[in-house]
Amino acid sequence: MAVKIHPAVDNGVKPGTGISGGTLHCKCATQTVTVSLGGDVAHNHICGCTKCWKPDGVVFSQIAVIGKDKVKVTANEQKLKIVDPAAAIQRYACTGCGVHMYGRIENKNHPFYGLDFVHTELSKESGWAAPTFAAFVSSIIESGFKPEGMGEVRARLKELKLEPYDCLSPPLMDAIATHTAKAKGVLK
Ligand SMILES: [Zn+2]
Ligand SMILES: [Zn+2]
Repeated sequence: MAVKIHPAVDNGVKPGTGISGGTLHCKCATQTVTVSLGGDVAHNHICGCTKCWKPDGVVFSQIAVIGKDKVKVTANEQKLKIVDPAAAIQRYACTGCGVHMYGRIENKNHPFYGLDFVHTELSKESGWAAPTFAAFVSSIIESGFKPEGMGEVRARLKELKLEPYDCLSPPLMDAIATHTAKAKGVLK
C-alpha cells in the first residue's frame, strides 16, 4: 500500500474546475465557525511544516492562498484565536475544535502580504485549484516522522506529480528573493 500523504490526494489529485468561491467550516457540530472565500485559491500545495493545521494522524497539510479581501468570517468569529501572535503568519484557529480557519500576514513588508492561507478541504464545494507541489517535505521529521521513510514519501509525491521541495516551490522562492532584492535596492 502506498504511503499516506493527505486524504485530499491519496486517491489521486483531483484537477480544479475553476470554482468561484465557497465556504470553509470548522469541525464543531454546533456554533460552527464559517469563513467565506470569494474566489478560487492559488498556489495550492501539500505542506510538511509543523505550523500548518492538519487532520489527526496525517503527516502533511494541504494549504493554499487567496487575496485577503476575498476572505470573510461569516459566523462565530468570537471562537477564533490567533495561535501564535509572534509568527509571521497569524493563524486563526477555532478554540472549540482547533482547526485553523485562515492565516493572515500583518507585516506589510512580508513578500506574501495581502494573501491569506486557507485549507480548501474545510469546504463542501469541490473544484478548487488542485495542489501542484509539496513544500517543506523534510520538516515532517520534526513532527516525528521516521527519517528512513523519506525516500518512500518523496517517491509517492513524485508519483502523484506533487514535486517534493524542502522549502517552497521555485516560483515562490523566486518571488521571495525578488521582493528582498527590490527592498534592498539591488533589483529595480
Ligand atoms: Zn470549531
Ligand atoms: Zn506549512
